[in-house]
Amino acid sequence: MDKEKLVGIIKSTLTTLKKKNIHATPINYAKEFSRQAGEYKKELKEYKELEYLIEELIHQQNNNKHPKIDTYYELVREYKKLYKTNNLEILINNLEEIIAPSINHEIDSSIEKFVKSVKTKPSQFLSEKKIEELKALAQERIELDREVIKEKTSDIIKLTNLMGKYFDRSLIQSGNSLDEVNNIKQELDELELSATSKRELIRLQNKLVDTVYALGNNLKSSQEELIENKSRFGEMQSRIIKLQEELNSVRKEKFMDFLTGVHNRRAFDVEIEKLETQFKIFGNKYAILFIDIDYFKKINDQYGHECGDTILRTFANLLNALTREGDMIVRYGGEEFIALIKYEEQVEVEKYARRIKKTIEENNFVYKDLKFKIKFSAGVAYRENNVNNIDTVNAADSLMYKAKRTGREQIIFENGLII
Ligand code: GH3
Ligand code: MG
Ligand code: MG
Repeated sequence: MDKEKLVGIIKSTLTTLKKKNIHATPINYAKEFSRQAGEYKKELKEYKELEYLIEELIHQQNNNKHPKIDTYYELVREYKKLYKTNNLEILINNLEEIIAPSINHEIDSSIEKFVKSVKTKPSQFLSEKKIEELKALAQERIELDREVIKEKTSDIIKLTNLMGKYFDRSLIQSGNSLDEVNNIKQELDELELSATSKRELIRLQNKLVDTVYALGNNLKSSQEELIENKSRFGEMQSRIIKLQEELNSVRKEKFMDFLTGVHNRRAFDVEIEKLETQFKIFGNKYAILFIDIDYFKKINDQYGHECGDTILRTFANLLNALTREGDMIVRYGGEEFIALIKYEEQVEVEKYARRIKKTIEENNFVYKDLKFKIKFSAGVAYRENNVNNIDTVNAADSLMYKAKRTGREQIIFENGLII
């Protein structure tokens, strides 16, 4: 635009304003100038820029209704509107949501207050003071949240420690586990959880309390069961011991002569087999003494059967007392006894025979106020002189009869010795 044209538009603008009695303030002047300039505006650099900014605004407003803008003042007003409705307003409206969510809810009211003040005066939101306030609020929020997390962590540690204790193997295995569980129950009940943990952890704490109580009850009933079983087991054990003792005595009785307490025929049969085997394998020698009380019938006839029994018992006990541990006295029948004697030299058997003869003959057999002298006859056979154990028994038996026939009160040996 040439200078003349521009001066003409300026003059006409001022004249029109004067005519209309309007003060030529910058805003009034700009408006009138725009009107006077008309199509010529396009030739001015400022109007070209204004045109560009208006287009930008329309684009940002995303609005089909184009505002009527002729001056920079009007443009600023429109921009101000856009700025207010779009970004700042959206930000302020969402401010509560943006800064409010927090782990620690103590700060909620402070945030609410701040948001309220911003909403009342949105224009001040971006002021330095408000930004400082927002920074302080955010900082405080972070600190409080950090504190809550610390508390919760320590609460979780407390709970897990207690559970750790509960599941400690030594506790389960120790005898006083019930006491320990009771302690844990109490600790759980008394566990001080921070206020901030209440919502989440109290539920967990209650669950743990329930679990520990349930486990405690289980433990109690199993312990009771255990104690009951233990006493039952104890009863069973003593019954077994008693039965074992009974069995042992039955076993003993099986091989014992009831009247005299010395061994019976059954024991003899077993023992002679054993001796026979040992003789065959190792050459262990044994002798058989066949002993029969002389005129025993007379005692029975004269003093009664009970008296006879007493004498039989004493006779057997005397023989037993004179016989070594490894040897054996057997009541073979009525008033007949057998001594099974192991030896190295036959002279040992002779000595034994002399000893029993002397002791029996010297002994006073007593029944009530009666005293008796008892004599016996015996035959002695050595296994080493015979074919087998049966022959040996028969040989001893024969020698005993020989002793009877030839005067009684004597012991006859296979080698002819008589004592
Ligand atoms: P001998 O000198 O010939 O051996 O005469 P004896 O009387 O001893 O022999 P006999 O065989 O004639 O009699 C044995 C007696 O022993 C007969 C029986 O009354 C008695 N007798 C056997 N067993 C028992 C017993 O268990 N108790 C009692 N009291 N007597 C018994
Ligand atoms: Mg007899
Ligand atoms: Mg006899």
